[in-house]
Amino acid sequence: ATKGQIIKGKPVADQISENLIKEVNELVKEGINPKLAIVRVGAKGNDLAYERGALKRCQTIGIETEVIELSEDITQEEYEKALRNLNENKDIHGILCFRPLPKQLNEEEIKYVISPEKDVDCFSPINSAKIMEGDTSGFPPCTPTAVVEILKHYNVELQGANIVVLGRSMVVGKPTAMLLLNENATVTICHSRTKNLEKVTSEADILIAAVGRAKMIKENFIKKGAVVIDVGINVDEDGKLCGDVDTSAVFDKASMITPVPAGVGSVTSSILAKHVVKACKAQNNK
Ligand code: NDP
Repeated sequence: ATKGQIIKGKPVADQISENLIKEVNELVKEGINPKLAIVRVGAKGNDLAYERGALKRCQTIGIETEVIELSEDITQEEYEKALRNLNENKDIHGILCFRPLPKQLNEEEIKYVISPEKDVDCFSPINSAKIMEGDTSGFPPCTPTAVVEILKHYNVELQGANIVVLGRSMVVGKPTAMLLLNENATVTICHSRTKNLEKVTSEADILIAAVGRAKMIKENFIKKGAVVIDVGINVDEDGKLCGDVDTSAVFDKASMITPVPAGVGSVTSSILAKHVVKACKAQNNK
């Protein structure tokens, strides 16, 4: 039996970066400097880790960055004001707001404040609507876009493929399913109320796991030869980082599988950079 292949995120991220470096060079020659603003409330470990990756990636590509750190007890009015300042600032082309926001802030209102043209990680409902409409002028969230880019990079046929997306959050599951539908896949979305989950997932040519449960996906969830994309970031019983898929158990049965870490997560920041460049070009009528 042929063994599965571990498909890493790095080659995908590097390819995207390489193309972006050229695009940014062209812009800089014309006096245009793409710039990302990151809005962070407090200093949560997850946010800081993601921020470090994003800053490093942008720096490599030549994208300028600015971090707006707001205090933990910020009010709704102050947060909205900070966001409006960035909306109006012509030097800023992309805005990333770390979420979830602290409890005193009303995210349902704030998501309407961010300018959709600068919203590089799909916070604005305008950008969510564009995914639904198959309108590619907007910005789908970075992680689902990373999933699609990985599949394309490794030449996985999407058109007509039977794809099961496990998870239906607005951050990962739902937009991932919609992006794959736009690629002409036949998409099934599963969630915590799905009956006979293993039966549904084991029909999939491509399985996308975005559940948030350590090593939940075992061998019996997988069709022989399936491509498995593991979006989950969890901690296992030994305190080690792991995905939603029990990779060693599934490895022999799958044809390709993304690792955790070094899989989907490592592509996300390149997509963010790609969105900043796209936003910058659109704002400069390019
Ligand atoms: P959520 O908790 O918001 O959503 C989880 C989804 O999985 C829900 O739709 C839920 O169903 C479903 N689910 C939970 N338990 C089960 C179960 N036992 N059987 C079937 N379905 C189940 O998580 P997120 O979507 O935000 O994130 C998912 C994972 O992806 C997490 O591990 C997160 O850390 C990771 N992640 C990774 C990123 C990356 O860059 N690689 C970025 C963002 C997230 P229901 O709707 O019915 O509750």
